[in-house]
Amino acid sequence: MNKNILVAPSILSADFSCLREEIRSLEDAGADQIHLDVMDGHFVPNITFGPVIVRAIRKLTHLPLNAHLMITHPSKYIKEFIRAGCNAIGFHLESEGNPVSIIETLHKNDVEAGLVINPETSVDGVIPYINKIDFILVMSVHPGFAAQEFIPDVTDKIKELRRIAPQLNIAVDGGINDKTVDSVIEAGANIIISASFIFSSNDKKAAVRRLRGEHD
Ligand code: MG
Repeated sequence: MNKNILVAPSILSADFSCLREEIRSLEDAGADQIHLDVMDGHFVPNITFGPVIVRAIRKLTHLPLNAHLMITHPSKYIKEFIRAGCNAIGFHLESEGNPVSIIETLHKNDVEAGLVINPETSVDGVIPYINKIDFILVMSVHPGFAAQEFIPDVTDKIKELRRIAPQLNIAVDGGINDKTVDSVIEAGANIIISASFIFSSNDKKAAVRRLRGEHD
């Protein structure tokens, strides 16, 4: 088992009418953390959920909660997500506000800080922050929708980041499944985020194992 690879299912593909059971099934499957896709209908076209739902999910699991804020003004809402019980929060380099002050707010509250970059954003933009963050999240689809096709070029970006920052946690999000996961692990990603692949699987445990890079 590859213990260095963390699997973070996104509840975006869960059945929200029975979240308790859905989250239990992820725990039973061996998930390492829960990925929360927060969309504001402005930074991305869709709206998902906000801190109220995060707070409810906090009561349902002891797994770390990692929020992915696809919102235009993360600095405005960051404290609400901290109070809701997130263990880690990633926000987009393409969003508005001062990344350093958001990172500092997160660290002051013992929450891990991450920067997220869209497929068209180059690695150069994150370099000034790379020693301040706990993880970088590389988008391998355009954010805002589930079940999109993986963009293979992002593996080059993951390789570049791994070369620049050998110790940094590198997460990858979008279109990760049994066919694409090996390429991102090989490139250097160590946090694998997946929504559709896990929730469409009849055997979530096997799906999580596969995302950890295991071949049965
Ligand atoms: Mg996400």
